[in-house]
Amino acid sequence: MKCTRCKSPAEVELRQHNAGFCRACFIFYFQRQVERAIAKEHMFSPDEAVLVAVSGGKDSLALWDVLIALGYQTTGLHLSLGIGTYSDQSTTKTVAFAEARGLPLITVPLADEGLAVPEIAGLTRRPACSACGTLKRHYFDQLAIDRGFPVLATGHNLDDEAARLLGNVLHWQMEHLARQRPVLQPTHERFVRKVKPLFRCSEYESAVYAFFRGIDYIVDECPNAAGATQLLYKDVLNRLEAASPGSKLTFVQEFLHKAHPALTPTAIEAPQTCQGCGMPSYGALCGFCRLVRETATRRERRQAAERA
Ligand code: AMP
Ligand code: ZN
Repeated sequence: MKCTRCKSPAEVELRQHNAGFCRACFIFYFQRQVERAIAKEHMFSPDEAVLVAVSGGKDSLALWDVLIALGYQTTGLHLSLGIGTYSDQSTTKTVAFAEARGLPLITVPLADEGLAVPEIAGLTRRPACSACGTLKRHYFDQLAIDRGFPVLATGHNLDDEAARLLGNVLHWQMEHLARQRPVLQPTHERFVRKVKPLFRCSEYESAVYAFFRGIDYIVDECPNAAGATQLLYKDVLNRLEAASPGSKLTFVQEFLHKAHPALTPTAIEAPQTCQGCGMPSYGALCGFCRLVRETATRRERRQAAERA
């Protein structure tokens, strides 16, 4: 196969686009896809400082790399989740990426705040992924607004968006469907714009990009993710994609073009303000403050029982 752009031997084939690329042209193609998504969806402009949520995985590191190559002003935000060696390695890779390029990085070690994911999940008997999601959302939102960033970017890719869409459609989650956009405008004074510049790039493409660019990322999946429903949806979608290339992109793209506009805007409820932390909330206390309080209560009880 020959490269679609320069006709030299192709190193990667993209069946969903009926195209193949050599290394240099693939890098060009991937960066241009991201650049177009940012422009077309009005994600942010070159004069806006972007806070990039970086996990140490291929997607968020590839995203950060592309944004730098495109000349955007970026700062990384990494949460060290306290999930054993998985989190230690994620943090090491993220810090190494930032240091090698002289990039600003904010790192939040959750264990230092008494909020390591396994500990709070165990104490509150919640699924680890649910506790982790609550913590991530809170710190992303709070740090973005407190540090004055108008926009927060995550590395969610096409596979993530297709799996999420499938889950939302299977359960007809109308509010979740209404919120499933590559750009979310703030609905509260302490929210910032949230964007997903890789929403049209597949997981395979971001892995190839990271490899071609020599990015050292954590390959292991989070140990808590094994068996998660999201992985089942991804597996189903991969089988569809293999039989019919382009299925994932069509599923997500046509949802955004055709179905999303038909959803009523009233499906998105505006949040109130949390009485604990001042962040947006759908009750008197936000999910984060409820989780933190429950953790503290259960920790005290456990310590009292240990003393008795
Ligand atoms: P996930 O929910 O793990 O699929 O991650 C989706 C996106 O959230 C990633 O691409 C990152 O942008 C962001 N993210 C996930 N985990 C972290 C973390 N520990 N620190 C910072 N950002 C993260
Ligand atoms: Zn709160």
